[in-house]
Amino acid sequence: MTDLGGRLAIITGAGSGIGRAMSAAFVAAGARVFAVDLSAERLAETAALIDAPDAFATHVADVSQAGPIDAMMEAAEARFGPVEIVCNNAGVLDRMMPADEIPLALWDRVVAVNLTGPFLVTQAALPGMLARGRGVFVNTCSIASFQGGRGGVAYTASKHGILGLTRAVAATYGDRGIRCNGIAPGSVKTELAAGAEPSAAGWALRQKGLATRPPQAGADDIAPTAVFLASDAAHYVNGACLVCDAGWTVY
Ligand code: NAD
Repeated sequence: MTDLGGRLAIITGAGSGIGRAMSAAFVAAGARVFAVDLSAERLAETAALIDAPDAFATHVADVSQAGPIDAMMEAAEARFGPVEIVCNNAGVLDRMMPADEIPLALWDRVVAVNLTGPFLVTQAALPGMLARGRGVFVNTCSIASFQGGRGGVAYTASKHGILGLTRAVAATYGDRGIRCNGIAPGSVKTELAAGAEPSAAGWALRQKGLATRPPQAGADDIAPTAVFLASDAAHYVNGACLVCDAGWTVY
């Protein structure tokens, strides 16, 4: 029942980490994947890994902005047909900066990528899905969607926000054939924190949660949950956010 049966999935942030693993898992589950990222280079690496030209295509776009999102939707439909699944996965960190440190520009960027972008992609995909009476969203939330000390203020606020987006879309369109769910990874070994020095205060806050942290996940540990939520096996699941953290948040 987790066969995705040739359906077209747009996966954002597919050039790395969880989005790359989701792309591979969706193709393996029978989907056609339109993989989107800021980085052409990273997308090419994902494409080489998956090596399924009939079921996989790449597209470079900044999914925090309306213009590129409209172009992305047009390109996806021209290549593969109607968009049936959207995985709003692209995301950025905020250097763990607390409210008294973060510059407005960094707050704005994190909220744009992690929250406004998923909203805009959802808005672009909904008309077609509603017209067909069928569609699925899988939004990459985080345990920072539930907790206050797993990121800086902008990351935490944006991840609480995408959970709200997920629930609002589920509540509004559930009776018209649309499902919208989230996945909430814990700590996953990816490029998310690469290349940016964390704030000392944010780093200190993070240490408080590490004593109970299970071994870090690989991106492949997270991807099957997204496949499940996108599939008909989850036909009765709507507005949920499945925590994938090996139990970190239950301690
Ligand atoms: P990653 O940095 O390895 O991958 C993120 C990808 O998103 C990158 O390839 C990047 O180029 C792309 N991206 C960033 N901004 C973009 C934009 N504006 N437009 C298009 N692409 C963009 O990180 P990851 O860990 O795989 O993160 C994926 C998602 O998982 C994010 O939403 C992140 O918040 C979430 N998440 C990650 C963890 C973790 O521990 N790694 C935990 C919880 C949630």
